[in-house]
Amino acid sequence: MVPLDWLWLLLPVAATSGWYAAMRRKRGEKRSSTQTELRNHYFRGVNYLLNEEPDKAIELFIRMLEVDSETVDTHLALGNLYRRRGEVDRAIRIHHNLIEGGALGAEERSEAMLELGQDYLSAGLLDRAESVYLSLAEHEVHGARALGQLIDIYEQEQDWDQAIAAARRLQDLTRGELGAVMAHYCCEKAEGLNARGKREEAIATLGRALELHRGCVRARLLEGNMRRAGLEHELALEAYLGVESQDPKYLPEVLPNLRKCFEALDRRDELWDYLRHLIDAYGSVAATLELADLIREREGLDSALAFVTGQLEQRVSIRGLHYLVDLELRKQGERAPGSLRLQRALTAALLEDRSLYQCGHCGFRAKSLHWRCPSCKQWNTVKPIQELNGGA
Ligand SMILES: [Zn+2]
Repeated sequence: MVPLDWLWLLLPVAATSGWYAAMRRKRGEKRSSTQTELRNHYFRGVNYLLNEEPDKAIELFIRMLEVDSETVDTHLALGNLYRRRGEVDRAIRIHHNLIEGGALGAEERSEAMLELGQDYLSAGLLDRAESVYLSLAEHEVHGARALGQLIDIYEQEQDWDQAIAAARRLQDLTRGELGAVMAHYCCEKAEGLNARGKREEAIATLGRALELHRGCVRARLLEGNMRRAGLEHELALEAYLGVESQDPKYLPEVLPNLRKCFEALDRRDELWDYLRHLIDAYGSVAATLELADLIREREGLDSALAFVTGQLEQRVSIRGLHYLVDLELRKQGERAPGSLRLQRALTAALLEDRSLYQCGHCGFRAKSLHWRCPSCKQWNTVKPIQELNGGA
């Protein structure tokens, strides 16, 4: 239902703006019949309100309100009210009438077009919304909003080339920085190309992403994955190694595959040195556990236990503790006390329960990585949560 406050607000507007304005214009010709007609409409509208028939009242008042610069705000407000109520057809009719009426100035007409575009979006008529916003894209005042809406449309349609073109125009218009967002559009496009078997084209598109934003971690990760799938381990390794200089918070995303590349190239000693470097430089828990695995394989359980214990003494982490308890259980086998099993169950439950990623913009937490926050729709704001000591 329409809040009745709105409708009562319309009464004086209808009475003063529409009725008297109409009376003034038509003064001198058919004066008395117009007055009578408007008065009748007005009282019929009041009756509709009293009978709790707000829809009929609104229709009537709209007919009474002539479109001019004094009533345009009322028409816009009514159109928006309809749209918010989900009555998009009526909103479209009101905004369309405003634009086609020819009585508005250029600025008011542009505002009505913005609203009409929003109506079309609400109705899911993306092509119509697109053509409305395209006609406003050069507008001095509303151009930025129109381009923002166009970007939304192209994202929904997954038309990444158009999204990049619109973002570039918006960037030029506002002198903002949209390189990181455009790089994600390239990554989206690259994933689509790769899924269709166009791997080389996909990798070239990832190169374009990095040109737009050198810090695009997603482009490096995707390139590494695509190169590795094509057995180009050397190039895959190069891509993965690039993530550290972009943002070390993402190291846990890259380490398992990076390790596989080093192993495929039979460069285990370099892997060992690289993991050591990550632990020293960032206190990386992910690197600590990868290195503990290598130590266990090369030197046995006792060495791995000593290494993880030493690391935990420097920086506590749930993952590290879980790994340590697991090693101890493996070592003790059948002789392991029940308390150790309980400890492992506890750390496993803690790990299972926690979120691994968090949006720095709205605080949304998730168990998997999203390049665009599902909650606030910002790109690049969801990152791996740091362990207690700050290491990733
Ligand atoms: Zn968010």
